[in-house]
Amino acid sequence: MEKIVEEFGLDVFDDKKMKELLPSPVYKRWVDTMNNKAALDRETADVIAHEMKTWALSKGCTHYTHWFQPLTGATAEKHDSFLDMDREGKPLAKFSGKNLIKGEPDASSFPSGGLRATFEARGYTYWDCTSPAFIKDGVLFIPTIFVSYKGEALDFKGPLLKSMESVSKASCRVINAFGDKSVTRVTSSVGLEQEYFLVTKEDFLAREDLVLTGKTVIGSLPPKGQELETHYFGTIPTRVQDFMKDVNAHLWRLGIFAKTEHNEVAPGQFELAPIFADTNIAIDQNQIIMDVLQKTALKHDLVCLLHEKPFAGINGSGKHNNWSLTTNTGVNLFDPGKNPHENIQFLTFLCAFIKAVDTHPELIRLFTSCPGNDYRLGANEAPPAIISIFLGSVIEEVLDSLVDDKPKTYAKNSLKDFGISNLSYLPRDNSDRNRTSPVAFTGNKFEVRALGSSMSAGYLNVALNSIMAESLNEIADEIESHKYRQDIRKAALDICVDIVKKHRRILFGGDGYANAWVSEAEKRGLLNIKTWVETIKYVEDHNSADVLIKEGALSSEEVTSRLDVMYETYAKVKAIELKTVSDMMKTKVYPVIGKNIKDLASTGEFMPVYFKETIAKLTDFVDATAKEIAELDKVIADSKKFDSNKETGLYLLEHGVPLHESIRAKYDAIEGLLSSELFTYPTYGKLFFKLDF
Ligand code: ADP
Ligand code: MG
Repeated sequence: MEKIVEEFGLDVFDDKKMKELLPSPVYKRWVDTMNNKAALDRETADVIAHEMKTWALSKGCTHYTHWFQPLTGATAEKHDSFLDMDREGKPLAKFSGKNLIKGEPDASSFPSGGLRATFEARGYTYWDCTSPAFIKDGVLFIPTIFVSYKGEALDFKGPLLKSMESVSKASCRVINAFGDKSVTRVTSSVGLEQEYFLVTKEDFLAREDLVLTGKTVIGSLPPKGQELETHYFGTIPTRVQDFMKDVNAHLWRLGIFAKTEHNEVAPGQFELAPIFADTNIAIDQNQIIMDVLQKTALKHDLVCLLHEKPFAGINGSGKHNNWSLTTNTGVNLFDPGKNPHENIQFLTFLCAFIKAVDTHPELIRLFTSCPGNDYRLGANEAPPAIISIFLGSVIEEVLDSLVDDKPKTYAKNSLKDFGISNLSYLPRDNSDRNRTSPVAFTGNKFEVRALGSSMSAGYLNVALNSIMAESLNEIADEIESHKYRQDIRKAALDICVDIVKKHRRILFGGDGYANAWVSEAEKRGLLNIKTWVETIKYVEDHNSADVLIKEGALSSEEVTSRLDVMYETYAKVKAIELKTVSDMMKTKVYPVIGKNIKDLASTGEFMPVYFKETIAKLTDFVDATAKEIAELDKVIADSKKFDSNKETGLYLLEHGVPLHESIRAKYDAIEGLLSSELFTYPTYGKLFFKLDF
């Protein structure tokens, strides 16, 4: 343990290191700049760059990179060496404040959703000095925002920083209106739990679908799946433990508090959770975590699958987004407090969130989704595609008591009479484990469980911050209009009552997996959009993203461009998936079946009835699916005729996806008839349980 503490953060140029290495007036200027959110002056930047370079060189770095997060959702890096030439042509290591602050990657191949014409292909990266630089694989990484020549954001980091500002301002307005002027900043924090699967590299490489799409496009469950739930929190296999040890050591050196790790529900599925941090830092760290997981797995002859739904019939992977708001005075605004003042503040923030989510559920649906998550959300082992909030029975009762005249079972103090004295009796874990809820209150934070495991949490948090800012601003407008009223807190309580009355339909504490919920949600008028591409269309048709513009996170052009990039992503990922189905059937599955039929037929006149029946079933299968494959090939070819990504995506959804599902169902039904000897690719049975041994 001592070694961990000693090595923690060794590879990150954090505040501690700056304090240690920078001349103290420079450090002071840096801190002032950060506190005032001002621009960094050139001289200070030069000194910081010099110290950063000296530190990086001393640790063996030869290159630096402006690390950015384009709209693909992945990260991008272009390495530049520190090497330069002096006037006499001699080599020297150079890194100026300008190099630190601004970069100019050739951006023409990154998606811009039409924001950037080819003739202005340049993109610029600017240092996000709120997120510390770090060293990975001998390269100095500088976290940056990515903008176009005209200054439009080409990533989510810029919008995220803006949304953090807007939710801070709106929160302060409400708190200040309550009379507490000491609060001048509110920070949104996020803790991201990352789920993933591990398979052996050998098995991975032997499956075309895993290699090309990150998931299996065909395959049926072996006799044992996850039903025994022995894997969940079970003993971590030694091989995986070694892998996790390496991952942790690496993350700790990068200053990431990797905290918990455990087996997940499905076989071969695991989770890693770091301690929460400021939202933009947590999201950067999550990108690093995904990268370290994948690279470390390879070193252990494993492959880390981040896909949301690599296997049918067992759980998929999510990335739980634990989100909270904390004041500069250290108060978590979702923490029920100890005195009436804090209680009404807590209730106000809770109600603001309820109002925000009920007003904009499609944004949560949109930003937690990707093509891979379509097979997870709404399936019977993941949060449904219907967005609802789970508060836990105690808090629901508190809210009910505000609006209903029914007797209170839970508390001595009546909130309605405004005799609130203490909400701290609320049991912290009253929110229990309703794993079926897409958004759950967990004591002092909201956990969005719908988010896909492979995705960047960037957009989701732009949305959470922005819709919360809108909701709080509306509440602040109302409270401020009551400023001559005697009791501002009574005014706030009235607002809360009003919100609960209007928005309680979004609250749901029951089983989100049950069919009954689907019809109940429909009665309540809640949205249930089945797929991501339809959600994009819904958001576009209803101008649902206007709130992001209103709250200053994105411009209208930036919204349009993002929706287009989403359509493009959907269309491309779907086309690859469908082509893989076709290819795998023709080049892998049919040959196995051919050999199998030949083997069975070789028994000739002694052929048992079972063999005869099996041959018939296999023959029927090939005949039926070959037709569907031909149709699928045509759909793929036809999908290219459209001018827009939107049309292509919707076409593939309507015509390609049902064919895939039909082919898959037929294949999954006959896979178990085939001789295990003949397969050239590992089936689920092989993939699932290997790590245990
Ligand atoms: P679980 O969801 O399994 O109960 P935890 O309660 O340990 O897990 O928390 C999960 C994640 O939530 C961790 O990353 C943790 O650091 C983070 N978290 C805890 N408190 C907060 C908070 N106030 N704001 C944001 N994230 C938090
Ligand atoms: Mg969780």
